[in-house]
Amino acid sequence: MDITKIIEERRRWLTWKNIAPLREVLETLPSIEDVTWSVEEGWVTLAAPAMTEEQRAHIETFARMLKPWRKGPFDLFGVRIDSEWRSDRKFDLLAPHLDLEGKNVADVGCNNGYYMFRMLPYGPKSVLGVDPSPLFKTQFDFVNRYVKENRLRYEMLGIEHMAGFADSFDTIFCLGVLYHRSDPIVALKSLKQALKKGGELFLDTFMIDGEEPVCLVPESTYSKIGNIHFIPTVTALEHWCARAGFEGFEVLAVVKTEPDEQRKTEWIDGQSLEDFLDPEDPAKTVEGYPAPKRVYIKAYRK
Ligand code: SAH
Repeated sequence: MDITKIIEERRRWLTWKNIAPLREVLETLPSIEDVTWSVEEGWVTLAAPAMTEEQRAHIETFARMLKPWRKGPFDLFGVRIDSEWRSDRKFDLLAPHLDLEGKNVADVGCNNGYYMFRMLPYGPKSVLGVDPSPLFKTQFDFVNRYVKENRLRYEMLGIEHMAGFADSFDTIFCLGVLYHRSDPIVALKSLKQALKKGGELFLDTFMIDGEEPVCLVPESTYSKIGNIHFIPTVTALEHWCARAGFEGFEVLAVVKTEPDEQRKTEWIDGQSLEDFLDPEDPAKTVEGYPAPKRVYIKAYRK
């Protein structure tokens, strides 16, 4: 796999006709002096002492052009982007398990890079985020225009390209992506190849209850999401990982998605979790499947 060529080709996605106008506005955004950033109760927060109202308005208009904001939250100079997901919940859950000091890290399916910013205080050497969405990359570029972190890099690639980075990463995050793949074992093998020997994987996926090594295969949608292929029991997930060449499979948490973690806000159009569950029985999705529940695991490359 010629990863350099794929990266070059995909960079052209930023010229798509729905994206190019956004990239033009991105270039006209104000430069702001003395920007600092921090994490305030889970919000990735930018601040600048000499910010003008006009600059703030410019930032807010652009932020609204970049909807939907699925992951976050971000506070950009007082513009509070309350994203659909409280992604800080997921990050906080993983935080006690992180040891990223001096490490080369990848976040596969990084969306707008919310977790990449959250990883920075843990001292990684580099963080590569990959996600095939030019819109989410533009959200990332918008935030990083002010954070100005050159340890962060974002490419519009997918999990299927990770094998192209052979033996490169100490730690890989793959959160909320595996169920979108029709061949999860191939996807896991791709992650394994990108890890150095002994490198660690943090992954979360939808799961179903039960001891058997089996999967739910939704007929069409699951929780109104179209491209969900396999929802495993924890045992089935463990078997996938073993088949892909991982060892030391460890369950870090099992968490039901609550309506205060994923909900409709002004930063998305359309529906959110409350519309995806059966109004008579919130233990079920509208399709009659068990309501979303996630397992978080850690495993090592053999
Ligand atoms: N990791 C984040 C986002 C999960 S949403 C979190 O856990 O909160 C799923 C993400 O996967 C989206 O941002 C979507 O653009 C991305 N995605 C879609 N196809 C992908 C692929 N082939 N490889 C990696 N990511 C993909």
